[in-house]
Amino acid sequence: MQQLLDQIVKECAPLSEAGHVADYIPELAKANPKSFGAAVTDKNGKQWASGDADETFCLESIAKVVSLALAPQLRGFDDVFDRVGRSAIADPFNSIMRLEMDSPHRSHNPMINSGAIVVVSLLPQEGVGAKIGAVLELCAALSVQKTADVVERVYLSEKFTSDRNRALAYFLRSVGSLEGDVEDTLDVYFRMCSIGTTAKQLSVLGATLACDGRNPLTGRDVVSPTVVRTVRALMMTCGMYDGSGEFAVDVGIPAKSGVGGGIDTPSRAGRGWQSTARRWTSGATRSPAWRP
Ligand code: GLN
Repeated sequence: MQQLLDQIVKECAPLSEAGHVADYIPELAKANPKSFGAAVTDKNGKQWASGDADETFCLESIAKVVSLALAPQLRGFDDVFDRVGRSAIADPFNSIMRLEMDSPHRSHNPMINSGAIVVVSLLPQEGVGAKIGAVLELCAALSVQKTADVVERVYLSEKFTSDRNRALAYFLRSVGSLEGDVEDTLDVYFRMCSIGTTAKQLSVLGATLACDGRNPLTGRDVVSPTVVRTVRALMMTCGMYDGSGEFAVDVGIPAKSGVGGGIDTPSRAGRGWQSTARRWTSGATRSPAWRP
């Protein structure tokens, strides 16, 4: 495994022409495009890492996996999926077009921004502090960080440049899809996107999801297997947005990308796993090539 990871990192790290860092959020534009790391955690808690696997970056949309793991446990499946669909769409992550065109105006899935904003609004805790506290706590338990923290400069950068997310949230409110205070919901959404992580920590998140919600490092059951099954299915069908079909065919395992550069892949694959890993990467990566 170590050899395989080292080889992947060696082959992929120089491919900096294959993409660019996200620049629509000013703080993300400062990311080092040369950083590249990969990590794997297996079901027994054994870990391997290569490259810049300890470098901190932000979860961004990978945080949608955490909020989706949290909301149905607190609100029940029906409450969540009455408000958010489970269908794949071939639209970009922040698209507003279909949301307005379709009737009812229900967000299509919890992996796109509109769906994640609805999921955040459904968290039952009172106020921004309690809601983000619950997300941070689950995030730490899923990925075995002692604490998960918001990277303040990224959070502020998101908050003050996020016209599109604000437009989505206010539209959702106008059609009755949001609960609670719209600005509080947005604030929790921006904060959770700005949670700091590393490829190594993400690989534990992936392993916990692959192990039906049991963290293989702590042995703790963090999320119910039924919820995890739903999360994995939505990662498979919608986790890479309009690239999800292509990724499913090429790689064949669930995945969630984020504009911070991470990809989290909870793989239960057995045979053929190594060839999959060769074509992409497995566990988690910090890649200069982001796909929105
Ligand atoms: N915080 C980002 C946004 O809402 C997350 C998007 C992403 O990672 N695809 O624009």
